[in-house]
Amino acid sequence: MRHSQMLIPTMKEDPADAQVVSHRLMLRAGMIKRVAAGIYSYLPLGLRVLQKVSQIVREEMNSVGGQEILMPMAQPAELWKKSGRWSEYGPELLRLKDRKQADFCLGPTHEEVVTELMSDHIKSYRQLPQTVYQIQTKFRDETRPRFGLMRAREFIMKDAYSFDVDQAGAICSYEKMYQAYWRIFQRCGLRFKAVEADTGSIGGNRSHEFQVLADTGEDLIANCDHCGYAANIELANVFVATDSSHTEELPYEKVLTPSQKTCVEVADFLGVSIDKTVKTVLFMADDKPIMALCRGDHEINESKLKKALHANWARLMTDEEARLLVGPTGFLGPVGLNPEIRIVVDRVLSKMPSLITGANQQDYHLAHVVCNRDFPAEFLDLHSATLGDICGQCQVSPFVFHRGIEVGHIFYLGTKYSEPMHACYLDEKGCEKTIEMGCYGIGIGRTAAAAIEQNHDAKGIVWPLALAPFQVSLVRLGQDEEVVKTADQLYRTMLENNIEVLYDDRDERPGVKFADHDLIGCPVRVTVGGRSLKEGLIEVKRRSSDEVSRVALDSVITYIAEQLAPTKV
Ligand code: ATP
Ligand code: MG
Repeated sequence: MRHSQMLIPTMKEDPADAQVVSHRLMLRAGMIKRVAAGIYSYLPLGLRVLQKVSQIVREEMNSVGGQEILMPMAQPAELWKKSGRWSEYGPELLRLKDRKQADFCLGPTHEEVVTELMSDHIKSYRQLPQTVYQIQTKFRDETRPRFGLMRAREFIMKDAYSFDVDQAGAICSYEKMYQAYWRIFQRCGLRFKAVEADTGSIGGNRSHEFQVLADTGEDLIANCDHCGYAANIELANVFVATDSSHTEELPYEKVLTPSQKTCVEVADFLGVSIDKTVKTVLFMADDKPIMALCRGDHEINESKLKKALHANWARLMTDEEARLLVGPTGFLGPVGLNPEIRIVVDRVLSKMPSLITGANQQDYHLAHVVCNRDFPAEFLDLHSATLGDICGQCQVSPFVFHRGIEVGHIFYLGTKYSEPMHACYLDEKGCEKTIEMGCYGIGIGRTAAAAIEQNHDAKGIVWPLALAPFQVSLVRLGQDEEVVKTADQLYRTMLENNIEVLYDDRDERPGVKFADHDLIGCPVRVTVGGRSLKEGLIEVKRRSSDEVSRVALDSVITYIAEQLAPTKV
């Protein structure tokens, strides 16, 4: 394409509201344009990148038997009521009414629509297994849309759904998807990890996230270099040796801690280190009150808590609920607690001879509190994996932590949707059975943004070849007749050779052209300029290196083709 005829509104300056590199560079390179918070138009260059990602995803989905379909964005409330999610899904679900006052929502995900579709169609075991997928626009009214395409409200997702006769079949579909995801992110040229993950509101009990490693990632991954176990810290299994050798002779005693509410304040006030204090957090889980305790320098993780309790949901108790049930927040503790409140204790505390806890009385704490002497303690793994924690899988190595961007997420769903929505088939004996499902998502825009987070320099984007909007930037310097003729000819030859080329035929200064090329980040730059051309030479430079090669005009196409071989760029 000719640059002069394309909509590429590049910007010299950083836009004020963009905090992360990918957002900044996508705006500056004229790839996206903000329409409203978390809502963007994709301009030609941006769309080309999204199409590259989509095409890789499409090929790999097809390779595992996925059938491409396209489902609607507007979904009737009835479907969501059938699955139970109309009332469960929070404010991220954008609800609307049509002119007849019927309730609709904009699809944040498509389990309901696809389950209904397949359950209407599938009658017999002979029709299974099946996998369908779509590449489609989702809407989630995110609390904090930010970082451009990384956390948008309207975004493009590939979502796939598998349907199997039984659990073994569903696990087999899951494994195939897992492999396909590896190939997708490898082909995109990304450095990533597949990690064990929480199943969130989608439910089910087997799940992996594909995380692109980048310092700007919102997720934290605990990784064990010894055994290879990797998991989101929300889930990472932490090893804690049980140790009952310690004894505490002293009875617990009340100590005055005026206005000292946080663990840091209490530790300072009493002159002990923070890991000697206890953090107390109240939750509601499946409508039951829970008190959870962990070490003062650790964090109770809601996902782990929910999992450990086998609860459908868990949330923090409101201050109001806490005050009514227990007492003043800031001085909460397990001793003498209302027996209706279940007390769960992070396993790490089992190693501490005694605890400093709140006294459930304004301005007081208790010292020398002993688990299972002074209150009933149920030990569970509750804290988010953190520095110094030992891998729970091999029980050998401490975890190493990485930041990651979740680009893909796969779930084994079982019958979570098929049961309430009555998606069944008849088996060989004519008995009715419930279909087993899996669901599998990839953020198309987020993958493109993650690629930029991993591949950029001070001048702009350095696209991996597979995702670049064009493989080559052909830069013409000046309007000299010979230069124009040669550049035009090269442009035509590249098109004939199926080289994707952005031809900078604009009447601009070389500095402007080079700066735009560096910003847009196509892998190879080919420059036609008067001085080199007099010697019959063309300059070729890779975006990822400073080295400039001067190549004879008649061999330049072959040379470029070599540069575009996948191992080169
Ligand atoms: P997150 O934890 O980041 O909110 P999620 O767990 O809600 O994501 P899924 O429901 O698993 O996301 O969606 C599948 C994929 O869709 C994610 O892996 C991600 O790549 C993409 N995605 C989810 N939310 C957004 C968003 N707000 N903007 C862009 N992409 C998104
Ligand atoms: Mg997820």
